[in-house]
Amino acid sequence: MQGLMMNRPLMISGLLRHAGQNHADTEIVSRLAVGGTHRYTYNDAHRRSRQLARVLLSLGVKAEDRIGTLAWNSHRHFEIYYAVSGMAAICHTINPRLFPEQIAYIANHADDRFIFFDVNFANLIEALVPHCPGVKGWIALCKREEMPANPIPNLHCYEDLLAAQSDDYEWPEFDENTASSLCYTSGTTGNPKGVLYSHRSTVLHAYGSAIPDGLGASARDCILPVVPMFHVNAWGLPYACALTGAKLVMPGPHLDGASLYSLFEEEGVTMSAGVPTIWLGLLQYLQANKLKLSTVKRLVIGGSAAPPAMIRNFDEQFGVTVLHAWGMTEMSPLGTVNTYKQKHLALSAEERDRIRVKQGRSIFGVEMKIVDGDGNALPHDGKAFGDLMVRGPWITSGYFKSEGGDALVDGWFPTGDVATIDADGYMQITDRSKDVIKSGGEWISSIDLENIAVAHPAVTEAAVIGAAHPKWDERPLLVVIKKAGHEVTRDELIAFYEGKVAKWWIPDDVIFVDDLPHTATGKLSKLQLRERLRDYRFP
Ligand code: ADP
Repeated sequence: MQGLMMNRPLMISGLLRHAGQNHADTEIVSRLAVGGTHRYTYNDAHRRSRQLARVLLSLGVKAEDRIGTLAWNSHRHFEIYYAVSGMAAICHTINPRLFPEQIAYIANHADDRFIFFDVNFANLIEALVPHCPGVKGWIALCKREEMPANPIPNLHCYEDLLAAQSDDYEWPEFDENTASSLCYTSGTTGNPKGVLYSHRSTVLHAYGSAIPDGLGASARDCILPVVPMFHVNAWGLPYACALTGAKLVMPGPHLDGASLYSLFEEEGVTMSAGVPTIWLGLLQYLQANKLKLSTVKRLVIGGSAAPPAMIRNFDEQFGVTVLHAWGMTEMSPLGTVNTYKQKHLALSAEERDRIRVKQGRSIFGVEMKIVDGDGNALPHDGKAFGDLMVRGPWITSGYFKSEGGDALVDGWFPTGDVATIDADGYMQITDRSKDVIKSGGEWISSIDLENIAVAHPAVTEAAVIGAAHPKWDERPLLVVIKKAGHEVTRDELIAFYEGKVAKWWIPDDVIFVDDLPHTATGKLSKLQLRERLRDYRFP
């Protein structure tokens, strides 16, 4: 017997219709790439998104067409998210920090028909045009007087296109499994691969991420996604904010500590989200200028491991709770969030530190298991570690155009991460499988060693890689950026590890550098670092 409930499709457009009706006067504030601040409401965003859907129809865009974006977080990018998916086309966000050849590869692989871009990328667009013959038009996200002077063929002005259309448009309803948006993984090995989200997966992810022990978003929040809209849909926040009616603040291109601090204070931001590198910048700015955060309550830190020292600093010095989160492009992205259970509240600070360094518990909808090399499930005892596998309704079942072949193993997606899971369900990443240091046949966690290094008062940022060793195959090599005005020696840093990890885990050597390589999404790039240090030999 079937249940007798309505089978209403989960539509992305439904999120914005809901916000436009029920949070009509709640603001969306944007710092613009061209300078200045723009503010309007969910009602305005809903109206302009409907106008934009009509623009797309007038340009000949059809269902399933891929529409690219090369843009920072702004209200216009938000409108594109909703208008493109809402009219049944596919919103393809592209990371402008990639090399132009990679961008051209991705745009061509996706068959992008039109590309929206921020005007500060005009030179990049000019260079891309000859390599992207399938793109029928380029749309500059600006007003007429801000249009770039570059010779770009089939160039349109966003605001002119919008002004020519009414908002007389009803969002169509269709199968909720229809593709809605596309995001390519950064392709650290081989070519980038496309992850194709659906309306259903996106709406379910928005529900799942918003719950209290997820990101805990509500209509009383003011949320600033620092994570770019081209990095896994800003971790789904543009959807979760519309779902809950949270005020949304879009930071534009300036993500340094000073810019973020002023925006946090001016707009009363209560929650923000980004990768650890961003928060390192903010922490340094706050400490150097002796500032406090007056409204921020929660910071979501994910994309790479959040060092415990960073989590503690935000908590103790600024009264900010860090939500350590883990996920990946293939997971929309949210998999786990670290929040305490009731029984943890009575624990000592040290005992709680041991919990909050973990990547957290899976939110409902994400199932996790760890397996050994033969695919056998390992116990959830917090000690056994193995390859982390996931499944759920917002996890990919295969890459766009079947790139890379079968993505699943027995119906589970292999994350490429190595992890433990404890009896309370808290997962801890020990490494990406390709970053694990293999010393004499045993594994050493580079993340654990980095977490210890950054807890040293003279260290700003640290990376640990496995460097070739004649006897042990690989041994840990610590690469460190010193804090300005602080001194520390190689031997002092090595001594700092004593008593904190097994003796054979302690790095064999330390190299001091002025900078560390980062990926296009702002994460430490171990791949580039290993490349830089290819000729390194232990003394
Ligand atoms: P890429 O880094 O290749 O651009 P993703 O953004 O999808 O792709 O990154 C997913 C990966 O990032 C995960 O598989 C994991 O290795 C790493 N990651 C994400 N969050 C965390 C975290 N909180 N701690 C440790 N690693 C993380």
